[in-house]
Amino acid sequence: MNASHHPSDDLLVSYAAGSLDEPSSILIATHLSLCPVCRGVVAKAEGIGGELIEEIDPSDIGASALDAVLARLDEQEEFVSAAVETVDEGADDPVSIPRPLKDYLPGAIKSLPWRWLGPGVRYTAIHTEAKGPKVGLLRIAPGTKVPMHGHSGDEMTMVLAGGYTDATGNFQRGDVEAADDGLVHQPVADAGEECVCLVVTEGELQPTGMIAKVLQPFFRF
Ligand SMILES: [Zn+2]
Repeated sequence: MNASHHPSDDLLVSYAAGSLDEPSSILIATHLSLCPVCRGVVAKAEGIGGELIEEIDPSDIGASALDAVLARLDEQEEFVSAAVETVDEGADDPVSIPRPLKDYLPGAIKSLPWRWLGPGVRYTAIHTEAKGPKVGLLRIAPGTKVPMHGHSGDEMTMVLAGGYTDATGNFQRGDVEAADDGLVHQPVADAGEECVCLVVTEGELQPTGMIAKVLQPFFRF
């Protein structure tokens, strides 16, 4: 099944240009491995980038700078095609993890060090080199209501298994939801299957309402 919620073109073009931070790149690369539509957008962006470079007179920028840019474009292409070809069906794992994400995980989903965050919700951080947004995985038990919360920075979520629904729609495997500091939402995991999401968070999540305030520790990833 193809994704119906996609990252913005801005994000895809930044990814193609190699200018996204590492946590966001992991999420976008994982989405690309499941989404032919966005792979098309990225390929087009890379093509345009390549054409622009071909039009530049090499004597203007020096051969080594041009080589560096061309090498960078080749790398991006290889990365995207590697991501496409190696979706791992993971026989011993209930969740099939696309290669760009699998490379960051020390083991199978169930073997990761899951931290209890609240009733029905567990989180594990994914280690990245650079400082910046945090990236991790959330497991939400079927039917669990995640407390209403806002955001002090951007948050991106991509579903890997199961699904959830909030006021903006229903999200299934491959779907991406981007929340900025204007969105207050209360995701509810679909019944019947555990929901596993990849989450990139920039600021702290901010609980709203009485009950959520009591559950404040829940939001400290
Ligand atoms: Zn897409």
